[in-house]
Amino acid sequence: MLTFRNTNLVFGIASIALIVTDILYDIPLALPITILILLYSLILFYGCYFIHSGFFMNIVCKAETDKKVIAISFDDGPAENYTMQIAQVLKEQDIQATFFCIGNRIEGNEHIVKSLHEQGHLLGNHSYSHHFFFDLYSSGKMLAEMKKMNDAVYQVTALRPKLFRPPYGVMNPNLRAAIIEGEFIPVGWNVRSMDTVAKDSSKLMEKIKQALQPGAVYLFHDTCKITLDVLPAFIKHVKDQGYDIIRMDKMLALQAYE
Ligand SMILES: [Zn+2]
Repeated sequence: MLTFRNTNLVFGIASIALIVTDILYDIPLALPITILILLYSLILFYGCYFIHSGFFMNIVCKAETDKKVIAISFDDGPAENYTMQIAQVLKEQDIQATFFCIGNRIEGNEHIVKSLHEQGHLLGNHSYSHHFFFDLYSSGKMLAEMKKMNDAVYQVTALRPKLFRPPYGVMNPNLRAAIIEGEFIPVGWNVRSMDTVAKDSSKLMEKIKQALQPGAVYLFHDTCKITLDVLPAFIKHVKDQGYDIIRMDKMLALQAYE
């Protein structure tokens, strides 16, 4: 299996083999070393940016089931603009979703977080700052952020989320260490709507309809107008196909809070 540990092992052995070959046969190393570094970098890139790869650690991205159930999630809120409107659509359809919130957006928006919780939605941790350089932080700094985010949720709900979704969906060894140390449960997705960059609502709709399958975990953003626009029709389509939209912790059998 392609994991960080196995990759390091294979590339470590390959490097030693190259050095030994060089000592024994005096073969120039520049080209093989360059190829090795390039290959290693490519594999690491894959592990960092493809959350479902499980390269650094196992991350739940979907349910293994034949039942017609899916879970939907919204990242990057609470947002003054669309979170409550999205929650209203969900309320009308009697659907519970998961909101992976950013901690520093909670101050001033406590009423939104409170309302989401009271409507039965799940609150997840999506870091405190969602800083552009979050992935370059030390594991200690990452964990401090994750705990600060949980404190912000605790102030409103008296609950501390256990589910954590990495900012930008990027994994690395430091984040793995922070997740383990903080006893968080990392959660990904298997349907990335790309709603943050979508321009055409009918194309977005087609994409998310095509991806419908048992156990799917959808990633949306409650910061996007286009998401609000397509949500009612998407929910109708899902229901028409005989599917139920259920809360992620139920579908994936995860403990949502400490
Ligand atoms: Zn995000």
